[in-house]
Amino acid sequence: MKQYLIRLDDACPTMNFSRWRVIEEILDKYHIAPLVGIVPSCEDQKLMIGAEDPSFWERVFSWSNKGWAIALHGYNHVYSSTAAGINPLWNRSEFAGLSLDEQREKIRRGIDIMKKNHIDPQYFFAPSHTFDNNTLIALKKESNIRIISDTIAFEAYRKDDFIIIPCQLGHFRAIPFAGTWTFCFHPNMMSETDIKTFDEFIYNNRDFFYSFDKIDLCNVKGKSLSSKLLSFMYFTYRKVRGLK
Ligand SMILES: [Zn+2]
Repeated sequence: MKQYLIRLDDACPTMNFSRWRVIEEILDKYHIAPLVGIVPSCEDQKLMIGAEDPSFWERVFSWSNKGWAIALHGYNHVYSSTAAGINPLWNRSEFAGLSLDEQREKIRRGIDIMKKNHIDPQYFFAPSHTFDNNTLIALKKESNIRIISDTIAFEAYRKDDFIIIPCQLGHFRAIPFAGTWTFCFHPNMMSETDIKTFDEFIYNNRDFFYSFDKIDLCNVKGKSLSSKLLSFMYFTYRKVRGLK
């Protein structure tokens, strides 16, 4: 079975509201509920696009109400280390390489802000995809979150107390293999052409799209041999191409 999932990164009170609204309208048109990553206390200048919107958290609440999956996407979205962690896409991280105490504090503060705004996130993904085992321990100690969106694999797998749903691609392309394929997008950065392509790809592949809240995570097993191989090949390819 082939499943396509959509992840939207970098929602915060200073985001580009008009772009997010257009993306939301497209997803509503196709009845797709994505996973959306919320930065609870954004200090990243790149995400300070507009004036702070006082109704931001109401919007997050409405997303949650219509079935969108909500993720804690870091705390302040500022890189504080050059470690790459267990999903080494980049040598920069808000989390990987920090002490457990530091990571616990970030998670605790992030969850506090979300709870204050009546949001109970069930997912986590880190800025730049980088986190380490301490991030998982911190999440376990400070939150109810037991699902991570990231890493390279063919399908969701179990890692200790967590379920990991892979996130393999930063743009749409038809995938010839069975599996659970998450495409991640940054609505703040999308041009009109990007948005048109986004709409067209979903229309042309509409039979494969699933909502995050519809995927069955009951019988998720450990990482398969084929997924381990895919991950190995992916990171070897990046190394050879000098992408990191
Ligand atoms: Zn981000």
